[in-house]
Order: sequence, then structure tokens, then C-alpha cells
Amino acid sequence: MRKLIAGNWKMNGLASSLAEIEALRGLTGEATCDIVVFPPLTLVEKAVERALGSAISVGAQDCHAEFAGAYTGDISAAMLAEIGARFVIVGHSERRSSYLEADCAVAAKAAAAHRAGLTSIICVGETRQQRDEGKAIEVVRAQLEGSIPDCTTSTNTAIAYEPVWAIGTGLVPSIAEIEEVHAAIRHVLEERLKRDGTLVRILYGGSVKAANAAAIFGVPNVDGALVGGASLKASEFSDIISAVA
Ligand code: PEP
Repeated sequence: MRKLIAGNWKMNGLASSLAEIEALRGLTGEATCDIVVFPPLTLVEKAVERALGSAISVGAQDCHAEFAGAYTGDISAAMLAEIGARFVIVGHSERRSSYLEADCAVAAKAAAAHRAGLTSIICVGETRQQRDEGKAIEVVRAQLEGSIPDCTTSTNTAIAYEPVWAIGTGLVPSIAEIEEVHAAIRHVLEERLKRDGTLVRILYGGSVKAANAAAIFGVPNVDGALVGGASLKASEFSDIISAVA
């Protein structure tokens, strides 16, 4: 399976950061994996222009579940598609915790993304407390079952396993822990989507750096990465991309 390496800039970046897209173009050339960058919404359209004709796609970090309406401050998936976004992240743990986004809300956003022709990256992951209580697999399974809409296919969806305690902390689960959760995610996908479930890309996210990327990419059922902090600088992000065999 062709790996997918995604860079989530979160709420970082002014117009000057678009230079990182151009630098990334130069550093990645004919990449052997799919690359997608998620700048803040203000930069999406310009990032699409800068990435044109390269191996880099551009996505947004969230969308609303409705096509249009009285939702002040929100942006629909159709609006994102219109400005050239091809992907959207839904259910990132920062949105689940800050905006109390429930699994059903995440599923509705993913369905809206698919209707607009976008690929959703649906995020799931346990807290430190849930892992310490031995509930990581149970929590991730339940989140996934509730967050993937009926219209999910291997072409319109990727899953990101992001343990909350690993995001932005420098902490990373052991290889065995990553393998166990990714296998459980694959199992749920196969239960729901049958054979197509074997083709859905499952990304690992949480403190991925150039130093640990190759080991993580070697884990069964790890089909790429969702990278936060280390995606902000093209040089660092391209080192992670280079770790794809
Ligand atoms: C993320 O924001 O999805 C993430 C994985 O962040 P970081 O790589 O900084 O841990």
C-alpha cells in the first residue's frame, strides 16, 4: 500500500510560511508516498496554488457537517473543495476535547467531506489514563465504530491512530503497542467494510520525528503518519517522508 504522510500545521503559519510548501516541493520531488499538508484555513487556497503540479496535496483541519446554513464561523466541506482542498482532518483529539466533538459529530463531518469529494482523515486515540487502565483497545474500537460513516471506503477515508498522550509530548508508544492498536483498527475496518477494509490507510500520529519514523513505518498496518510539530519545517518533514522505504 502506498503510504500517506500528512502534516498538520494546527494554528500555526502566516503567509510567510508558504515558503515551506515551496521548500517541501524541492525536497520531495518524485516522492514514493502520498504527501498532504494541512495549513490553517487562511492559507489553504494559497498553499494549493504553491503545490500545483507537485506530489503535495493540501487539506483543511476541520469542516462542518452541513453543506451551508446559519453556522457562524464554520466552513463546509464543499467550500473547502471549492478552494482546492482534497483532504480534511476530522475528530482530531484537540477538537474532541476543546469542542466536545462526539463520535457521531465526527462521523457526520466525515460523511459531509465524502459528499464534497474530499478524503477524510478520521482521528481516534486513547488518553493516558485510559491506557493505564488497560482500556486503550476498547476506547479506540468504540471511537472508530462511532466515527466512521456508512459511506466510508478505502478511497475516501484514512484513519489516524493518535494516542492523546503522545501528541506534542515527545512520548511515543512502544512498537508493540502501536502494532496492537493498528491491528485492532484493521479488524474493525474489515468487520465494517469487508475486503475494502484491508485497503484503508491507517496512519500513526503522536510525536513522529525523523529519528523514529522508519521504525514506526515498519510496523504492520502502519500505512503512514499524521505529523504535527515536525511538519512545520520542510527540512524536518521531508526527513520523515524520506524514511518511507
Ligand atoms: C497531531 O497534531 O496530530 C500530532 C500528531 O502532533 P505531534 O506530531 O506534534 O505530536
